[in-house]
Amino acid sequence: MKAILVHTPGGPEQLQLADVPIPTPGPGQVLIKIAYIGVNYIDTYFRTGLYKADPPIAIGMEASGTIEAVGAGVRNLAPGDPVAYCMARGSYADYAAVPAWQTVKLPSGISLDTAAAALLQGMTAHYLTHSTFSIKAGTTALIHAAAGGTGLLLVQMAKLLGARVIATCSTPQKAELARQAGADDVILYKDQDFAAEARRLTGGRGVDVVYDSVGAATFHKSLDSLRPRGMMVTFGNASGPVPPVEPLLLSQKGSLFLTRPTLAHYAATEEEFQWRASDVLNWIALGRLRVHIFKTYPLTDAAQAHRDLEGRATTGKLLLKP
Ligand code: NDP
Repeated sequence: MKAILVHTPGGPEQLQLADVPIPTPGPGQVLIKIAYIGVNYIDTYFRTGLYKADPPIAIGMEASGTIEAVGAGVRNLAPGDPVAYCMARGSYADYAAVPAWQTVKLPSGISLDTAAAALLQGMTAHYLTHSTFSIKAGTTALIHAAAGGTGLLLVQMAKLLGARVIATCSTPQKAELARQAGADDVILYKDQDFAAEARRLTGGRGVDVVYDSVGAATFHKSLDSLRPRGMMVTFGNASGPVPPVEPLLLSQKGSLFLTRPTLAHYAATEEEFQWRASDVLNWIALGRLRVHIFKTYPLTDAAQAHRDLEGRATTGKLLLKP
């Protein structure tokens, strides 16, 4: 089968197509014939070496497809089932053998492309709004990169929970998408001082929580956007990783809370994984959440997909097709 591997961490050109054997599902695993692959920003971190793995590095954390075979001990899934999975690396391929507990059978009405577009980023939005910071009616949330794959789902989920959402993004076209997802206010953070705007929009108080996936470029102004005892959730590095921070800074800025969460720790058990995954897919089936697919690229164009994502040229979700 074909798979994309990285032998030397670096630019998009390091995503190289290779011929590798179809994997055999081990105990507790399922073999999936992949239909659609979800592209996530984390794929670029493994490609560049920001996140470490031993070469050759298998890229991709998410896909949908059909069960081809099951390993010993798998009882809840069977050949032919339409499924999606996330959080096991190596999805840029024709087939993947992955743990059954990280695989979810698709409810009727959920297509394979929607599932591959929704699972990882939807589960991320789920834990950020339900568990890292529990959004309630009346919470004011500042959400950066709101027209991105994760951002559009995060805005919608925060709104479902009753938040007032102040969103940021880079262009008027992206602002329109953020508004369609439910954002109450949108700040163009390349043109405007988003901390000053967030304070103005909250009558000087500051927001209750900031969801910051941009990282280095926005970190300090995000702290400046918070009310005293507000929570800073820094969960990504799209502009580069956040440099070290002195705890005293959090005191000076208003006894703030700071957390740097990752989905792996919020979907760590089968029960937690399946809870978040089924909420996301059921809400889509019910029409409560909408998924915005930017483009589906052939697997052989994975490098172009990475260039577009890192070039801020995309909105919503990018998919690859084997
Ligand atoms: P997006 O679709 O959000 O794409 C990234 C967006 O970030 C861009 O479109 C751009 O939006 C914005 N951005 C701001 N500055 C830059 C920059 N210098 N270079 C590139 N992009 C920039 O990607 P994803 O939804 O896949 O991921 C979003 C973030 O969430 C990533 O940082 C990712 O690592 C993180 N993430 C974290 C998880 C976790 O559990 N911790 C899980 C899933 C995602 P604009 O043009 O509007 O500024």
